[in-house]
Amino acid sequence: MKTIRLQVNQTDIDRAGEMIRRGGLVAFPTETVYGLGADATNEAAVRSVYAAKGRPSDNPMIVHIADMEQLDELVTEVPSVARAMMEIYWPGPITFVLKKSDVVPMVTTGGLDTIAIRMPSNRTARRLIRAARRPIAAPSANLSGRPSPTTALDVLEDMDGRIDAVIMGDTCDVGIESTVCDLTGDVPTILRPGYITAEMIQAKLGIDVVYDRSLFISPENADFHPKSPGMKYKHYSPKANVIIVRGGDTEMRATRAYSILSLALSGDKNAKVVDYKGDSREAAHDFFARLRELDREGVDTIIVTGLPEEGFGFSVMNRMLKAAGYNVVDSDKM
Ligand code: AMP
Ligand code: MG
Repeated sequence: MKTIRLQVNQTDIDRAGEMIRRGGLVAFPTETVYGLGADATNEAAVRSVYAAKGRPSDNPMIVHIADMEQLDELVTEVPSVARAMMEIYWPGPITFVLKKSDVVPMVTTGGLDTIAIRMPSNRTARRLIRAARRPIAAPSANLSGRPSPTTALDVLEDMDGRIDAVIMGDTCDVGIESTVCDLTGDVPTILRPGYITAEMIQAKLGIDVVYDRSLFISPENADFHPKSPGMKYKHYSPKANVIIVRGGDTEMRATRAYSILSLALSGDKNAKVVDYKGDSREAAHDFFARLRELDREGVDTIIVTGLPEEGFGFSVMNRMLKAAGYNVVDSDKM
């Protein structure tokens, strides 16, 4: 299959919408990462997304909408707390899990009776959804297990020849995937941390929001039972060995990272340090793209300084720890 490069103009966006309506696969930019879109109501199209990514079929997709009118047909009910959150955070980088309606095929939700929905703020994403006149199921546009793509070229690195088209949009602003917030239980629960944090929602709405316990447990632990199916898979991994330096302060982490670097270099490793100096925003924006770049350079050992683990830093560290397969060194232990 030849993958067509589409530009951000109305002609090409209309063409992309048409491709989606006919059951095709089109990658497109969002404010979080690039998505690989298909008509969420078309079973065959959704199956081909799983195939193109090599994604396990029990890992459900997020369904993207552009207007509130699209929400009602996808779900059985919208609780008032959900309305309140959508009012504040949509369009934006947060996904809500609600009870699904029969319009949505089971393949889209990985066999679950709930559905994850987001209204992205990226203008190109919303223009595409409107042009398609369909809700668009879109996981990240990478091969399953690889770092998520934050540029159109990163999408092509994994997907050229496997999908119908890529919209060649801008670099993603946030750089890590959306917050996933489950609203089907008694208390809103963050299943996947992202740019919008539990603390932010609590402060704004004055309600309790909790993090799913599995976010604090590493996967080797017998107690690890994530509610979000995707969280159990290996994720975001480059070919290189990744080490995260955790704990202490910014300076301690950097010092420790460079001492690991000297050791690795003297052991003939092609090693590099990535130091975000505690800046979570910058780290999120850069991290996945950097992993891909270092892979292309043939670096075999990537030593990354960790972030303060609260607020957005906690979300970015979640991705870093997964990318490293929980390969962690404490900054204050030798
Ligand atoms: P990705 O498409 O790679 O951003 O992954 C989407 C993530 O959203 C998956 O890893 C799922 O775990 C999560 N997700 C999607 N639908 C649901 C749902 N109905 N319930 C819980 N988590 C979901
Ligand atoms: Mg993904």
